Amino acid sequence: MSDLIQLLPDNIANQIAAGEVIQRPASAVKELLENAVDAGATHVRLIVNDAGKSLVQVIDNGKGMSPTDARMSFERHATSKIRSIDDLFSIRTMGFRGEALASIAAVAQVELRTRRADDTLGTFIEIENSRVRRQEACAAAPGTSIAMKNLFFNVPARRNFLKSNAAEMKQIVDEFIHVSLAFPDIAFELNANGQEIFMLQKGNLKQRIVQLFGNGHAAKLVPVGEHTDYLDIKGFVGKPEAARKSRGDQYFFVNGRFIRSAYLNHAVMSAFQGLIPEQTFPLYVLFIDLDPAQIDINVHPTKQEIKFEDEKVVYAFVQSAVRHALAQFSVTPSLDFELDPGIQQLGAVSRPTSEEDRTSAGNGRLFQTFTQKHEAWKVEPSGNLSGWKDFYRPLPAAEAAFHPETSGADAPSAQAYSQATPAPAALRLPDEITPMQVQRSYIVFDTPEGMVVVHQQLAHERVIYERLTAALDGKPLPVQRLLFPVSITLPPADAALMQELIPELRVLGYLVEAGGQDSFLLQGTPSDLKGGGDGAEIENLLESYKHFNPSLTCSRREKLVRSMAARQCIKAGSHLAAEEMRRIVEELATCRQPTLSVGGLPTYVNWRSDRLDAMFFR
Ligand code: ADP
Ligand code: MG
Repeated sequence: MSDLIQLLPDNIANQIAAGEVIQRPASAVKELLENAVDAGATHVRLIVNDAGKSLVQVIDNGKGMSPTDARMSFERHATSKIRSIDDLFSIRTMGFRGEALASIAAVAQVELRTRRADDTLGTFIEIENSRVRRQEACAAAPGTSIAMKNLFFNVPARRNFLKSNAAEMKQIVDEFIHVSLAFPDIAFELNANGQEIFMLQKGNLKQRIVQLFGNGHAAKLVPVGEHTDYLDIKGFVGKPEAARKSRGDQYFFVNGRFIRSAYLNHAVMSAFQGLIPEQTFPLYVLFIDLDPAQIDINVHPTKQEIKFEDEKVVYAFVQSAVRHALAQFSVTPSLDFELDPGIQQLGAVSRPTSEEDRTSAGNGRLFQTFTQKHEAWKVEPSGNLSGWKDFYRPLPAAEAAFHPETSGADAPSAQAYSQATPAPAALRLPDEITPMQVQRSYIVFDTPEGMVVVHQQLAHERVIYERLTAALDGKPLPVQRLLFPVSITLPPADAALMQELIPELRVLGYLVEAGGQDSFLLQGTPSDLKGGGDGAEIENLLESYKHFNPSLTCSRREKLVRSMAARQCIKAGSHLAAEEMRRIVEELATCRQPTLSVGGLPTYVNWRSDRLDAMFFR
């Protein structure tokens, strides 16, 4: 019998190893965003197509790479971030294993373009299946652009394993949120299939939270901040009254890295105990920073888990920091935040250094702090609020962007999509400015701040939606009587449906009369609707109504209004005259919720001139 063991060919071994790091488009998103952060970028742009299956591209204005480094970066275990094993214990960068780019190159087609600011020429490298196809000098903006195309083109089994676009996109948005929350001083953009989903300007953490989750949160955030020699915590928790039924926006970061920890989550939840009803979840975005030597860095980077040297201390610290914050902002009835007795016995926590400290610990408005690593816990008088000022700086006027009404919409995560959009002041279109149509889809005009780009269809759909809603709320729309009523005959099931909808349709401008045995007479149509005069329109409407997204639970009337708005709005691709554009913009500006489409997407983008400047690295 011959021997059985063989060495795997390099490319197969590579693909297997790569699969550990790059499991789906979102893994590449995470790695590429982190590399951009590590490279010191101040502006990072993420572009995805087909939920990252066909393209994930990250463009940064970071330090770039030399031609040799550019080539080296795709080798396995090639990293500029650690040199010796000791470095592992003081690592502050997001990456350090040197696996990400090698993995991406093993399972996709990759194009790298990079230039260091001081070099005149940059480097272009095309690589696929771990093999370099092309490397040449090229012109490039300072920084790095890495495009990963056709993920798993060479590993069909893995490609088939990917989930639906909506599911993959949700994961991408999650990774984007994690990195952008961790680095609010970096501007991030997310563009999916040509649509700007997020444009996050640099700012402080509070601003970033509001940009991501909506302006509704601005007044509902309580700052958390405790500083000690051993570890720091900072961030925000939502006020108890803002807690929601779904466990959504809860984020922990340790040394800038997003982690999942049921244990620390428990610490926060216990601080909220008694303040929120069962089965509701407060928002939190909390950053713990500590000496990297205190955490086990060897946990695999894609696992989002972490091991602390002394978990219980961290638990106690998080719990009391959150309690303290809630107390400080008078959202809890009392100021005392006693530690769990078990935890109090831990040496690191429970050793007041002197009798004096012991007495001061008993005095009213005090808060605890760990002063020495693994050593004493000392009590200092009065909260030190100085560091919190930054978090409380007022925000530039921003309009409510997140609206609960849209939270169940069919976008992968309508809430995540809802970006903080600037005040509708941006929608003020002065008489002397003539709007321009771009791609027969966008209305663009100059503003004092920069330019505004309105999506004609999403905007008009919003306008119609609000008009129809108002109609059902008691302002019936005018009906244009038809000279020659149209007779409509429907299959029995549809006829029953039509019969049910007649009263609502009447209010919405359609005058329908029952005409016996599954047939109807259309007597009038909305007077401001062009070409609504034939029976086909109302049959189509019925069709859309029937096939209305079943994953959305909404009332009959909401379904009807949404279907009708979707049908009646001006579509992308239709030519608009200047007056029509103006009307859409003006009507949008008067909407109650001008910033979001009915499905929760942005209706317009306020492209401030500093954003334009940044695109040209000015
Ligand atoms: P790691 O981040 O763990 O070092 P990667 O495979 O992600 O490994 O990247 C390899 C190396 O390529 C990095 O150490 C860094 O030197 C370089 N690199 C990767 N992305 C960028 C970027 N966007 N800008 C500058 N250098 C980069
Ligand atoms: Mg990396």
